[in-house]
Amino acid sequence: MSRERLYLFDTTLRDGAQTNGVDFTLNDKLAIARMLDQLGIDYVEGGYPGANPTDTQLFAEERNLEATFTAFGMARRPGRSASNDPGLAALIEAKADAICLVAKSWDYHVRVALETTPEENLASIRDSVRAAKAKGREVLLDCEHFFDGYKSNPQFALACARAAYDEGARWVVLCDTNGGTLPHEVERIVGEVVQVIPGDHVGIHAHNDTEQGVANSLAAVRAGARQIQGTLNGLGERCGNANLVSIIPTLKLKPEFADRFDIGVSDDKLKDLVHVSRALDEMLNRAPNRHAPYVGESAFATKAGIHASAILKDPATYEHVAPEIVGNRRKLLVSDQSGKSNVLAGLERAEIVSVLDRLGVKVDKDDLRVGQLLDLVKQREAIGYAYEAADASFALLAWRTLGTVPKYFDVEKYDANVEQRYNARGERVTVAMAIVKVKIGNDEPLISAAEGTGPVHALDLALRKDLGKYQSYIKGLELTDYRVRILNAGTEAVTRVLIESQDETGERWTTVGVSPNIIDASFQALMDSVVYKLVRSRAPA
Ligand SMILES: [Zn+2]
Repeated sequence: MSRERLYLFDTTLRDGAQTNGVDFTLNDKLAIARMLDQLGIDYVEGGYPGANPTDTQLFAEERNLEATFTAFGMARRPGRSASNDPGLAALIEAKADAICLVAKSWDYHVRVALETTPEENLASIRDSVRAAKAKGREVLLDCEHFFDGYKSNPQFALACARAAYDEGARWVVLCDTNGGTLPHEVERIVGEVVQVIPGDHVGIHAHNDTEQGVANSLAAVRAGARQIQGTLNGLGERCGNANLVSIIPTLKLKPEFADRFDIGVSDDKLKDLVHVSRALDEMLNRAPNRHAPYVGESAFATKAGIHASAILKDPATYEHVAPEIVGNRRKLLVSDQSGKSNVLAGLERAEIVSVLDRLGVKVDKDDLRVGQLLDLVKQREAIGYAYEAADASFALLAWRTLGTVPKYFDVEKYDANVEQRYNARGERVTVAMAIVKVKIGNDEPLISAAEGTGPVHALDLALRKDLGKYQSYIKGLELTDYRVRILNAGTEAVTRVLIESQDETGERWTTVGVSPNIIDASFQALMDSVVYKLVRSRAPA
């Protein structure tokens, strides 16, 4: 039986960015878009070009994605022509592969929020879809409040969807904007919609207000919809959006879906799911949800007792899927089960080798040094390091364990201070100043001083001011992001700093430092970043 294609549409950068406390930088957005693209997501929605500076810049960037990069914005306003609506004009001019228009489909909203007539709303949908099509764009229409609208006036809700489809919209997306619809209702309503619009043109956009964002998405697919919209880790305002990190493995691993559908995420890429989920959390400076389905640290953890011994005999006894398929691992919370440590070490080694593979380091998983690296990662993660996010620090650790990293330079001493004073106009100002003393080989030490907006900024500038013969290798290096988290490791609070850097080629990497002292943690991460850049540039020892 040939399988049908099911399309995945990610809106982490648009709906996910609405989450309270989430504020993506341009670099975050680019990194997330690349991560989604590599995972195999079909559509990546970037945001609203023209609505804010970050999104406008994002759409101006060279992105090189396989995924269909999608711009989002409103259908023309009532009482205006499509060509006379500056918002719509900016949207359809955006450098995007597809345009997702949003329009009302609930008569109550048309009357109360838009203060216009049903006919004018339909005309707005038709005109806007036509205008975007005329620019050669693939067009999607998000029917806002579709399910609530359908319950109140099915003819009108359907007419809105139908208007977009008739004008040539590739997808008509049914949105449960308030998130209150239940799976059996979604299944019934989508079943009725696909009598009028072919299911391979119908999408579902579910919010999670009754914790059924995932269930509603799957119900819509059962009823005939063929596009699912959602976000990584279910990010989104209020209770979030449908969680793609739970939907993807369900589609790939549960026979009801796996036997009938193909998605763009390969079996191989599915193994990156844990990494993708945790990398997003690190970017947001959030602790990952240990109990997240499939990807949480506890998703495959079993406590001592008969369950654990049964799992050792055959993991399928107490696991609904095998953890390694999604890049997770089994955890047995016991110490006296014979053979347990071997089972675990075997799995973890395979995982480390696959990461090294990604970094271009070829080693055999039975190499003793892989075991050493594994132990080192565990020890360091126990005291607060986070290698999921800090790819460059992990690479350095791996290179040092499996080979050598030249000792380019030594920092003999550094000093940073912050001074508060009043300037000539009597305003309170703070100034930071740092001095770094670096020794390269047998040369005389180099001493550099710099002022910065804060002590870490000053240290960064001082460290990179004069690295002698290595200066030319780091001249394009810049610090692009800095994140701090206070952790409780044991009884002590420690500070974890993640620093993102970039060089003249546009390559970005992240390094980590951990210490009870925030300056010291920052300095470790800065050092790792400089050394990583020197290794990557093949600077001679
Ligand atoms: Zn939404």
